[in-house]
Amino acid sequence: MALLDKIKNQIEKQEDLKEQYYEQSGASWLRTIFNNGTKGEYQIYKKLVNVPGYNKCVANCYLPKDDGTTTEIDLLMIHETGIYVIESKNYIGYIFGSSKRRYWTQTLNAGRGRIEKHQFYNPVLQNKAHIRQLKEIVGSFVPMYSYIVFGDKCEFKNLELDGTCRVIYRSELMRALKMDINEKSKVLTESQIDALFEKLDSLSHSDTNKKKEHVVEIKQERERIEKDISNEICPKCGGKLVLRTATKGPNAGSKFYGCSNYPKCKFTAKAPTGLKLLIKEIEQKNQK
Ligand SMILES: [Zn+2]
Repeated sequence: MALLDKIKNQIEKQEDLKEQYYEQSGASWLRTIFNNGTKGEYQIYKKLVNVPGYNKCVANCYLPKDDGTTTEIDLLMIHETGIYVIESKNYIGYIFGSSKRRYWTQTLNAGRGRIEKHQFYNPVLQNKAHIRQLKEIVGSFVPMYSYIVFGDKCEFKNLELDGTCRVIYRSELMRALKMDINEKSKVLTESQIDALFEKLDSLSHSDTNKKKEHVVEIKQERERIEKDISNEICPKCGGKLVLRTATKGPNAGSKFYGCSNYPKCKFTAKAPTGLKLLIKEIEQKNQK
């Protein structure tokens, strides 16, 4: 057990490193335009792998509704003790809300003392609806548990919750799940879990065409960005990319591309390496 914890620790550390890397390399911007939500779900998905007990997970499960449309469940864990229905909110800022109120509020610091407010549909009610839908497909004999998981970069303010649902930060998820699982008895056999998984996993592919389109869009966008960078054009604002030297962090001393419109535009990219870098450096010096 101690060894397992050590390995998990190691994985967490690697994750932190990756986060740091993204922040420093400017990939955080790419990530944001490429869908911040997906990233949050992926982080949770990786944690679920370490939950004790036989389980299988389904990401992005599209449930058909009576009116012909579909609703999407971010993550499902089919576990010996029941189905854990997870709604991921990878938000930042302060979060206000209550179990009963229809809308919750996210406030963001927009700089210069300005506060931006956004409303979003109450995730507790949203997940309740998901569970209702899920019971229609799976049957009501399987106990289901609602989890709303927020990213660690937001902060809860005066959340009024009725205790029917867990509303937690991502960093608390493993502990909460382990505690909850411990208190519950096994209700599903391995073959039942497998059967449920097959049923629900098939629903996660119902939108394959849409997903394919999305992948193509991302690919095209990435190609555009790469082309811009190779032409030393900032893909974010159209400014010129210039070679700079990192002064802080683990990459101190190494070269990177920064936007000439800094600090207005904070885009950064990897600089070329080797001979290419040398040529660029000489070019830039000659321009001065
Ligand atoms: Zn720029």
